[in-house]
Amino acid sequence: MSLTLPAGLSVSAEVDKFISTAADSIVVDGERRPARSGRTLESVDPATGAPLATIAAGDAADVDAAVASARSAFEHSWGRLPPAARGRLLLGFADLVDEHAEELATLETLDAGKPLTEALYIDAAYTAETIRYYAGWATKLHGDVLPVSPAVGEAFVYTRREPLGVVGAIVPWNFPMLITSWKIGPALAAGNTVVLKPSEMTSLTAVRLAELALEAGLPPGALNVVTGFGPEAGQALAEHPDVDKVTFTGSTATGRRIVNASAGNLKQVALELGGKSPNIVFADADLDQAVPGAFTGIFLNQGEVCCAGSRAYVEAPVYDEFVERLTAAAGKVRLGHGLADGTDMGPLVSAGQRDRVVGYIESGVAEGATPASAAATPAGGYFVAPTIFTGVTDSMTIAREEIFGPVLSVLRFESEDDVVVRANASRYGLAAGVWTTDLRKAHRMAAVLQAGTVWINAYNMMDPTAPFGGCKESGFGRDLGVDAVRSYTHPKTVWVGLD
Ligand code: NAD
Repeated sequence: MSLTLPAGLSVSAEVDKFISTAADSIVVDGERRPARSGRTLESVDPATGAPLATIAAGDAADVDAAVASARSAFEHSWGRLPPAARGRLLLGFADLVDEHAEELATLETLDAGKPLTEALYIDAAYTAETIRYYAGWATKLHGDVLPVSPAVGEAFVYTRREPLGVVGAIVPWNFPMLITSWKIGPALAAGNTVVLKPSEMTSLTAVRLAELALEAGLPPGALNVVTGFGPEAGQALAEHPDVDKVTFTGSTATGRRIVNASAGNLKQVALELGGKSPNIVFADADLDQAVPGAFTGIFLNQGEVCCAGSRAYVEAPVYDEFVERLTAAAGKVRLGHGLADGTDMGPLVSAGQRDRVVGYIESGVAEGATPASAAATPAGGYFVAPTIFTGVTDSMTIAREEIFGPVLSVLRFESEDDVVVRANASRYGLAAGVWTTDLRKAHRMAAVLQAGTVWINAYNMMDPTAPFGGCKESGFGRDLGVDAVRSYTHPKTVWVGLD
């Protein structure tokens, strides 16, 4: 298939060539191939709605082959390498991601819609940084010598940090390659092998990453990719009896299915799910920081961010000024094709996601809230203008449910005690933001907010060293940081009798 782009836009020959061969998108045993069934699925450019790529629609048979390949690599190649060798190969992989950053970012923009600058400086850059960070951990995972007091005899007891085996990684469409790196970086560094199932809407960068891993010298089978639909390829991976752990990022509804599917062989599960994160602006906040902070907190990546600050709680004395300044900023957003110069915000990922978000905007109006959205939306494509709702109450649908689009509810609060109760009254617990110049209040809030991450006078800051994940129905387990790499290991206890 040859790529159709709006007038004035173009991509490199290598991007075009990669897209034209995308039907061989299943990577097993170091080879790209079509689905065993021969079935394919279509990926679209969400900025135009035009066909983008034909990719393989893998199913249980492809998952079986990929898991067998991963098991073999675990037992015979990757899993047998000394930690330093794994670390060196992962460093080479990270360097190749940097070298191909432009190509990877272009593929991500075409597939997911996000502006190219974001794809380059957030997605591609932090994918490389995450893999590099975990390359360093390969040589730093170790057990302990234990001070035991055996009832009988003498013993020397130590633990070894062992990899789990084959890891199934199932990832969503909002940060396809970045979230992939959060899974494969720590899993591979700890000596596991991986079968990756990207979202059917955004599979291109996963395939390209697997190629780059092979080019870096990772052995065939260390990183396999099965593209395809969730209920087929994803479900088969989550159910597979020879997969030792499933790490999943996606919706809370799918997370429940993963937990059920894991029960067959009692595989370990880590879930990073949805959110409805409060972003709390106190009257003593520096509004010159809080307004742009709340803006990127909700509008980064078109609002398709799991930890988006989608409930802004603003203290009464600054409510009107905050709304006025934020609405003015939102009105200036330039929506457009992610590859076009000057685009601030791209389209949503699919027609279905656009309709879902528009449905939420309609529900907000029907339930009595007032929307403001002044930015112009281009014709064609799945664009939704950044929308700010005032007159929202906590019980409205738009204040309770994850919208996963550029829609913000701004709610007024009167006191610290009031806002803590309201911010925590959610089934989610992924992230929270606090804007204040009062140090004591900031730390009081950090302690009481029910969230996996609390940002103070900041929002959406991430780093490979900082654990990320949620509590309540936002899931369990952590990506990033040392917690993540440890979670891909188990401590094996070794007893040596000394008598
Ligand atoms: P989704 O749950 O629809 O899909 C996620 C992945 O699961 C995709 O690869 C999909 O193919 C697969 N899948 C679907 N059904 C499956 C099944 N029955 N068995 C196994 N796999 C299946 O989510 P999405 O729409 O791609 O992503 C949006 C959601 O992801 C939002 O709810 C968002 O909050 C969440 N998210 C969370 C984080 C986080 O770190 N907490 C990060 C990004 C996105």
